[in-house]
Amino acid sequence: MPLVTTDNMLKKAQEGHWAVGAFNAENMEMVQAIIEAAETLKAPVMIQTTPGTLKYGSLALYYANVAAIARGVKTEVAIHLDHGDTFDLASRALHEGYTSIMIDGSALPLAENIALTASVVKFCKPNSIPVEGELGKVGGKEDDTKSSLSGYTDPAEAEEFVARTNVSSLAVGVGTAHGVYAVTPVLNVDLISTLRGIIQVPLVLHGASGLEDDVVRECIKRGIAKVNFATELRIAYTRAVQAYLEGNPKTIDPKKYGAPARDAVRNLVMERMKVCLCDGKAV
Ligand SMILES: [Zn+2]
Repeated sequence: MPLVTTDNMLKKAQEGHWAVGAFNAENMEMVQAIIEAAETLKAPVMIQTTPGTLKYGSLALYYANVAAIARGVKTEVAIHLDHGDTFDLASRALHEGYTSIMIDGSALPLAENIALTASVVKFCKPNSIPVEGELGKVGGKEDDTKSSLSGYTDPAEAEEFVARTNVSSLAVGVGTAHGVYAVTPVLNVDLISTLRGIIQVPLVLHGASGLEDDVVRECIKRGIAKVNFATELRIAYTRAVQAYLEGNPKTIDPKKYGAPARDAVRNLVMERMKVCLCDGKAV
């Protein structure tokens, strides 16, 4: 079916105490894998691309890819700009047909983050495209998004941020980081409960790759309604390619190693969807 926006799926997740899985795709095989997983489990799904991914391809290429594959399935598929870093990129994603936009001003001082985020919300409103903002840094590195420390979201600032920007959802800093964890992160799950108590819009957890299933479930129980998975999908894809080529070093056909890589990503996405409890939740 045609791509959908994320308002409904996130609201339903928030009310039903489950979370929408949001998965980063880098190429056609990963888009196929994510949508196949969603269709198999009847799960609504968000496919997202970062600015770094969009430099590798383009908004038009990823949009066309996701829209074409989604057309052939019954489940709800949204395409989301992940960590949009400028008003310009956010507005171009909207014009391209992206059905959900993130503007990440979390590296800016609060007032500037509010101003940037509010301007994107205002721009997206006539098209009813939801906007995710971020407050409190998620540490680590995700493409061009880099910060050395994980900053915890301040509840009073979050309340002010949501009121003044009118964002549809909010990515919060609760101790997770992007990339691969060198040590087990210490998550402040009580902070999620606190934020959930004062923030009306769905809360988003970034940096979930490598977190134990129980930890992700606890975050969802406390009020997270969207969970992002990126790094571990890249790992699954690349390790599957490596394994195939090690066993078949004479292979020259990209389809030969693309297929097992796609299967590996699909299986991982299905596991993560079950952790998010979003299986069976498609309309
Ligand atoms: Zn992120």
